Order: sequence, then C-alpha cells, then structure tokens
Amino acid sequence: MTKHKKVALLSMDVEDWYHLDYIKKKPSQLSMLDGFDHFISFVDEHNIPTTLFILTDLLPKLNSKLKNAMNNGHELALHGTSHKRPLKMTLSEFKNDCRKAINVFNENLSKIPLGYRAACFSLDRQRLDILKNNFHLSYDSSRMDFDLHPLYGSLNMNGFKRLTKCVYVKEEFSEFELPSIKFFGGALPISGGGYLRILPWFIMSFLIKRYIRKNSFFSIYIHPYEMSVKKPPSINGIGILNTFRFKYNINKVPTKMKKLVSLLKKEGFEFMTHNQAQNYYHSINKKL
Ligand SMILES: [Zn+2]
Repeated sequence: MTKHKKVALLSMDVEDWYHLDYIKKKPSQLSMLDGFDHFISFVDEHNIPTTLFILTDLLPKLNSKLKNAMNNGHELALHGTSHKRPLKMTLSEFKNDCRKAINVFNENLSKIPLGYRAACFSLDRQRLDILKNNFHLSYDSSRMDFDLHPLYGSLNMNGFKRLTKCVYVKEEFSEFELPSIKFFGGALPISGGGYLRILPWFIMSFLIKRYIRKNSFFSIYIHPYEMSVKKPPSINGIGILNTFRFKYNINKVPTKMKKLVSLLKKEGFEFMTHNQAQNYYHSINKKL
C-alpha cells in the first residue's frame, strides 16, 4: 500500500458577509472584505500556498489583489457568480451561471479556472458532471458529508476511486471533500464555517487531532468576514439562531487559524493549493 504524504488544504471562499444564504436583504454599504487582506498576510507570513474560491461578482473590487495573490503562489478558483445555490438553479441555469463565471474570471484574470466550490456546498452528481464534462474543470471541492444541514447537497461519487479519506479521482478529475467526523450519531464538519467559529478551540482541536492522527488528508475553509477586524453588522430579520451563528466567537477565528496551522505543521502536514494536491494525487493514482 502506498504511503501518502500528509496533505493539508487551506482555502478561502472569497465572498462578503451579505452573501450568506440567510441574509435576504443584501445591503452592501458595509464590506468586511478587509478580512481578505488579513488572510493573505497571514498565509504569506506562514508560507502557506492557498486556494481562493472567488465569486465573480466581486472581481471588479478585488481584481488587482487577486492577481497579486496569484503572482505570490496562491491559486484562484471559482465559487460561482453571486452565491446563488446551484441546487436552486435548473441544470440549464447552472450551466449558464458556470459559463458566465468562467468567462468573467478569464476576462479579468486572463486565466481559466481549474476548480470549483459550490455556494453552501450545494451540489449533486448531475451538476458535478457538468463541471467535469461540459467545462473541463480539473477538480471540485463541494462535497461534505453532513446530513444535518438542510442546505448542503448530497453528492454521490459512484465511479470515482477513493485514494484516501476525502479524496476521490476519476480520469483527470478530483473531488476534495471537506472532512467531518461522526459525532453522537451524526456527521459534524470540522473543516470550517459555523462550527469553527462557535466551538471553543479546546473542543475543535480535540476533534481535529483525533481526525488528523488517523487520516493523511485535511482541508479547511474560511471567509473574509471571519478574518475582518470590523465589527460584524447587526442584521434585522434573520432570527436569533442565525444571528448567533454569524456573530458568536467570530473574532476568535484568526487566533484559531494560527493554532490550527501550527497543529497541522507539528503533525507533519504539508500545505498545498488544490491544484498542487490534484497533481500529487494523480501521480499516485498512475503508480497504483
Ligand atoms: Zn460561500
């Protein structure tokens, strides 16, 4: 059996706070995109190549910053146009959205994106096949085994080979799943989002350590608003639960990220961009 390198992927879904699915009115006066700059300083300081999944609606605002990030070794990939969930679109709407996103990406950044992550991880197999077969992308990272969350899609990987936990390959294409652990009979994501914000570090680190000591692949994602130094806005009409999910412990994320990076390095993980990981796993697959 091939011994795999320990691979860690750290990525950012580049969107603003008002792109969150439960915020229906999208006031755009206040931006928390300063968190993008703080994230880039953080990863550069720690020599971590990262993947930035971009909403193309934000490209006019972020174009030069993204080009700088790309020139410094980070990878740019797609997070769609406007953060509308793919499963809320018909297949032909989804195709049009992807076509538009890829064109705008290419016009602004003079590059064809290689990878995709669906808004709210909302992707099924039909839409995955469109990314792979119609647009010839090289990888996707929208799969999450999280049966408790109503927004997430369920993505079957029939016909794919599982190279290691959370990494699937088929022909030249890869799927990088976001890891979760079994917890009280359900699946609990340990790869970012609300749980990374809300759970105290001693619980999160306990769960992550348990996972990475058994598995050789780990992936985590964050958002600009979690790295922003601005005070999160008060949002009317989203309910107590969503307000809690959005705001609680949001200012603790930068410190948690530092601790997480040192934990992964201490455990011998090597940070890669998604495309570097894609190349690595395909080279292994060819040798098998
Ligand atoms: Zn998103």
